[in-house]
Amino acid sequence: MAQAKKAISKTSGKLSARNAARAAVKTYHNYIDGEWVESQSGEMFENINPADTRDIVGRFPLSTSDDVNAAVNAAHGAFDRWRNTPAPKRAEILFRLGEILIRDKEQFTADMTREMGKVLKEAGGDVQEAIDCTYYTAGEGRRLHGFTTPAEMRSKFAMCIRQPVGLCGLITPWNFPMAIPSWKLIPALICGNTVVLKPAEDTPLSTYNLVKACEEAGIPPGVVNLVTGYGESVGAAMTNHTALRLISFTGSTETGRIVASACAERNAICSLEMGGKNAIIVMDDADIDLAVEGAIWGAFGTSGQRCTASSRLVVHKKVYKQFVSKLVEEAKALRVGNGADPKTDVGPVINNDAVEKIMSYIRIGRNDDGAKLACGGKRLSRGDYANGYFIEPTVFTDAAPDMRISQEEIFGPVTTVIPANSLEDAIQIANGVRYGLSAAIYTQNVNRAFKAMNDMYTGIFYVNASTIGAEVHLPFGGTKATGNGHREAGTQVLDIFSEWKSIYVDFSGKLQRAQIDVESPQ
Ligand code: ADP
Repeated sequence: MAQAKKAISKTSGKLSARNAARAAVKTYHNYIDGEWVESQSGEMFENINPADTRDIVGRFPLSTSDDVNAAVNAAHGAFDRWRNTPAPKRAEILFRLGEILIRDKEQFTADMTREMGKVLKEAGGDVQEAIDCTYYTAGEGRRLHGFTTPAEMRSKFAMCIRQPVGLCGLITPWNFPMAIPSWKLIPALICGNTVVLKPAEDTPLSTYNLVKACEEAGIPPGVVNLVTGYGESVGAAMTNHTALRLISFTGSTETGRIVASACAERNAICSLEMGGKNAIIVMDDADIDLAVEGAIWGAFGTSGQRCTASSRLVVHKKVYKQFVSKLVEEAKALRVGNGADPKTDVGPVINNDAVEKIMSYIRIGRNDDGAKLACGGKRLSRGDYANGYFIEPTVFTDAAPDMRISQEEIFGPVTTVIPANSLEDAIQIANGVRYGLSAAIYTQNVNRAFKAMNDMYTGIFYVNASTIGAEVHLPFGGTKATGNGHREAGTQVLDIFSEWKSIYVDFSGKLQRAQIDVESPQ
């Protein structure tokens, strides 16, 4: 998305008259070793409101590998002290962070809607998720459980503890600009790691707000370092930096692959959260109104820009007509607009690249795939929409499971309805994509619900609820091309940000050889 934001040179001389208003735009800094500093490049990029591109949200450092090096050095310098700070003390700081996030939730919510576009209610949910994650994970400061186990010899003690991984690089996307950074940052910190955090170039303000709150909470200098900039420069410098033992990445499957290969080259740990093509199965016994409500929320919430979005609706043929007619009616009634207006249901998409990608999929759906465009399909660009990235909520019907719009992640307000003959057929269709993040079934029949729960090969599954709505105390992640086997959130995230250390204590005072000096049972 680098091209979507405009780089400006701070040293290139006078701002033109046209840009006089821009002079008032707030300038932000990187956070390295407890100091707010400019990029060594002296360059900045603009953070633009996707609902109104005349509105420049702020200017952020267009950082380079030099800034990444400085941040890594700071993280290195802070590591020993932080890892040796007792975990309950680390947690106390994080609880303070939670309180600050609650205090400033309203401001952070407004900032997020302005830079990212999602409606205020959802932006509030994003900040709330960061709060929930912070409290839940800080509680781990008094757990971080390991285990003890019997040793195979007398006078020998065996136990297993978690140790921090070391210096962690966190690379995050724009669709959950505070929640996703918090999912990575807070677990990394509670485990005793120090971090370099790079937010998406489209939404650096929400992550800046999170880091500023970390500073106020009293996280020591060097423990959290923020470097803003583009993926190809800052992100790549991080993934290639030999001192970053772990890269935690959320974003597109294509970029995830680049990150994974860079990490493989240097044997770094790599945790990936990537795409989804999530299906809601609607059975003939379902509460259709509830299913339609769930489909609308799952498909068009956050303008469809969630990795868990309900981008496929697999509907039993017996209720297909009824479901589609209600769905289309509801989709047409959605109000598209600026997310800051409380009356808006669907905000803009993130930037012009996203508009082009989504519109090209709409063309593919109509022309190449030959699905039926039941509603939507147009970019809105007149009147109030003239300066933003607005697309109508779009429903394709009568789609086949193998069409491109049924298979590929569109990441916009577009959903595809596919008819199914039976539960088995629906499960096969729902499983028949390269991703495996989330899925759902609407049915009143417990046997069908359990069969789908058992047979859907996804990381998340819902019964009588949409494909979105994860809670922070359950593991989050997916199978197949969605991830690489890790899970964020829950206690399972600790397995990303800590490594196990098995410890044997021999108090016999003599040499005891495992597997050799073993007593017979008598
Ligand atoms: P999207 O296409 O949805 O913006 P990306 O996967 O491109 O998703 O971006 C997710 C995050 O990855 C962003 O912070 C972005 O800057 C970063 N990124 C993009 N390209 C690279 C790269 N080559 N190496 C490391 N990080 C990258």
